[in-house]
Amino acid sequence: MGPETALIHHPYRPPEGFDAPQVAVHKASTVYFADCAALRARDWRYKNGYTYGLHGTPTTFTLEERIATLEGGRHTVLVPSGLAAIANVDLALLQAGDEVLLPDNVYGPSRELARHELARLGITHRLYDPLDARALEAMIGPATRLVWLEAAGSVTMEFPDLTGLVHAARSRGVLTALDNTWGAGIALRPFDLGIDIVMHALTKYPSGGGDVLMGSVTTVDDALHERIKLAHMRLGLGVGANDAELVLRSLPTLALRYHAHDAAARRLAGWLAGRPQVVQVLHPALPGSPGHEHWARLCGAAAGLFSVVFDERFPQAQVDRFVDALRLFRIGYSWAGPVSLVVPYDLKAMRARPAWGGTLVRFSIGLEAVDDLQADLEQALAAAFG
Ligand SMILES: *Cc1c(COP(=O)(O)O)cnc(C)c1O
Repeated sequence: MGPETALIHHPYRPPEGFDAPQVAVHKASTVYFADCAALRARDWRYKNGYTYGLHGTPTTFTLEERIATLEGGRHTVLVPSGLAAIANVDLALLQAGDEVLLPDNVYGPSRELARHELARLGITHRLYDPLDARALEAMIGPATRLVWLEAAGSVTMEFPDLTGLVHAARSRGVLTALDNTWGAGIALRPFDLGIDIVMHALTKYPSGGGDVLMGSVTTVDDALHERIKLAHMRLGLGVGANDAELVLRSLPTLALRYHAHDAAARRLAGWLAGRPQVVQVLHPALPGSPGHEHWARLCGAAAGLFSVVFDERFPQAQVDRFVDALRLFRIGYSWAGPVSLVVPYDLKAMRARPAWGGTLVRFSIGLEAVDDLQADLEQALAAAFG
């Protein structure tokens, strides 16, 4: 079964005598037990029944099952945001004296979590170059417990040497966790590569509306799932049934939307690469973008996300004028909704050794007609650069 089909045919069974396409919104803190024996028999760890709202309802169990199916895994836990999913993994697997390795282009708040909360717990971190698997292998030491992977990396969009990085970690017995928000379960099959944990900001493509915050952690291994699930429950992480329902409603169109975002983004990225003000377009499917060869080996599809580096001779204020002149593109964080978004970034503040000078602008391509988006880019370039 392809992911398009698997997202539409789900295991939810409606009450006897009622059948309809969508899962019901089951809300609960209290869940009733028929008697004391039933109360004692149920164990939330193994989902052998419903125990308490925080431990899941038919709505969240169905969404967990569908995200596991999407990612090609067996177990999923849901958390209130993508960042909470990262924290869930870190707190479940790391303890004082341990080290976690993060790619230099890691999602920024994940690095902040390592710098502050993890550091306070006595957990150290170092940054590695996601394009250099040998360097990662050399960094792994006796305290290294976890390697985070991100494909493509945040904002600068380098596509890592996933195969090499996973091999380096596995050969030293170190767990790997992939932030698969960009791939969204469509572009690559992480568990086939030997990755242990897949984290996903469902806030992005699975929600698809720019109106839900949610995250997931998916695993294949039972023991690893149990460690993540136990930390999940002790931390009191749970999601609301209305939000779960919104994601369930969007999942059947996930593949369709992903490919539409992809096609539009590739066209606009290619067009922008030909503009004289632009020195580099960072899109893994574009030849010449860092890590393009790794993307080409592992993926057919790409997300609707790319960044553009403007020539250093243009001051920040002039690039800001371009961004401000855009009409269809709205200025805002996050991505993967119907509305195209744009954010300027200061590369020097983000990377240890930025490969480019100049101002970087990150685009999330929405679902508008691509001709309209190109016309908008064209008029804003003319307004800012003449
Ligand atoms: C958005 C995002 C997150 C965090 O998701 P939130 O739901 O906003 O907390 C994590 N990783 C990546 C790559 C993201 O783009």
